[in-house]
Order: sequence, then C-alpha cells, then structure tokens
Amino acid sequence: MHKIIIAIDGFSSTGKSSTAKTIAKKLGYVYIDTGAMYRATTYLAVKEGYIAVTGLENEKTKQFENIVHIDKEKLIKKLKNSDLSFKYNSELGFSEMYLNGKNIEQEIRSIEIANLVSEIAKIPEIRIYLVDLQRKMGEEKGIVMDGRDIGTIVFPNAELKIFMTASEQIRAERRFRELQEKGENVSFEEVLKNVQQRDFLDTTRKESPLIKADDAIEIDNSHLTFEEQVNKILLLAEEKINSL
Ligand code: C5P
Repeated sequence: MHKIIIAIDGFSSTGKSSTAKTIAKKLGYVYIDTGAMYRATTYLAVKEGYIAVTGLENEKTKQFENIVHIDKEKLIKKLKNSDLSFKYNSELGFSEMYLNGKNIEQEIRSIEIANLVSEIAKIPEIRIYLVDLQRKMGEEKGIVMDGRDIGTIVFPNAELKIFMTASEQIRAERRFRELQEKGENVSFEEVLKNVQQRDFLDTTRKESPLIKADDAIEIDNSHLTFEEQVNKILLLAEEKINSL
C-alpha cells in the first residue's frame, strides 16, 4: 500500500489538530503538530527571558498596543542547541512535544504562549530551521502534518492538501470552551481577540503567510460535526491512496 503525505492547513482553532490526530490514528500514520513546534520555540524564548512585551499608546487611536521585543540572535542560537522532539504517548494515542527531554504539552497551550507565538513564527530564521526539521520528519511519508504552510512550503508535493476554515466567532467559542475545561481563567473577549489577532498576523506576515495552496481542498467546518469532517477527509485520503 502506498503511503502519502496529508497536509492540513488553516486558521487557528478550526480543529485541525484533533482532526489530524484522528485521521493519523485511523490510517496508522504519524501525526505531526507543527504549531506545537512554534509554541515550543515561544516557550523557550519566555523561559530564557528572550522576549519582552511593553505597552505603548498609539498616538492616533489613543489605544494601548503591545510592542514585542525579541532577542532573535540568542533565541535562534538556543533553539539550535535544544532538542525539540515528539514522543509517542501510547495511553493518549498521539505524540507530545518535548523540549530538552521535558514534556511541555501543558505549558505551550497557555494563553500567554498563544498571544506571543505569531510574533515568533514571523522570524524567517526560525521558520527555516523548523521547516527543515519538519521535512526530515516527513521523509518516510505516512504522515499527517498540520499547520499554516504545510501544503504551500513544507510539502508542496503532498498528495492530499486540506485547507480548513470556520467563522471566527465559532472558532473563538470552541477555543474558549477548551480553555475553560482546562481551568484557565480567561474571558471570551480575550479569546476572540487572540483568534482575530493571530488570523491577522498569520495571513499578513511576509514569511510563508497562511494561504490556501492552489490544489488544496477547502473545508468550512462551521456547521460540520467532528465526525462528518473526519469522514470527509478520510474518504479523500482513501481515494488518493487507492489511485496510486
Ligand atoms: O496550530 P497552532 O494554533 O498551535 O499554531 C500556533 C501558531 O504557530 C500559529 O498561530 C502560527 O502563528 C504559527 N504556525 C505557523 N506555521 C505553522 C504552524 C503554526 O506559523 N506551520
């Protein structure tokens, strides 16, 4: 049986990761969450004190804006000397993110990291380094990888490309529920703002912006159940595998 690469890109909180995980499990493929790699790099920057945020009043709008300062050189050096890897958790049935041997799954899902990650993901040298790691992870095929630039940059020749969207309101509601279940003290407005801000930064950045690859299949899951969406992609994957 031929093994393929399935690239799942799309906006934040469209349920890409849960979908990709389930599809990988059903096909017996390896799942790779590239967002976790950008989050882990952000966590590293915070932990090492290489990132600082200062508020500044915008002269025109009189609104406070956050200015993020990043010590890029130190961060890139530290990243290259760190071990960023996924380890399979057989109880959960998927891989978790490790930094220098420590499981950092919980740390990287906080709102603090979510608020900073798109600033880190804008840095070209960091993207080049992480994309290189991602390509190595996919060498053997038989993978489901989710992110923002998988079908456009990481694996432009992926056999199946999916682009997931949903309305920002629905995405923020999903994310808010998730954070509440984890006991994070955060308001819906804060989550909505985070979703909007990440959409803006991810789609407008110069380096590998979030765009749909020409040959990607778009799925708007605003009104689809999780099962419907998984089945839709599984069907496409099986069609592709059988056609090879
Ligand atoms: O997928 P997730 O929401 O965990 O991704 C976190 C952030 O990492 C995104 O908002 C985006 O800024 C960045 N990212 C990226 N390219 C990827 C995956 C994630 O720029 N392939």
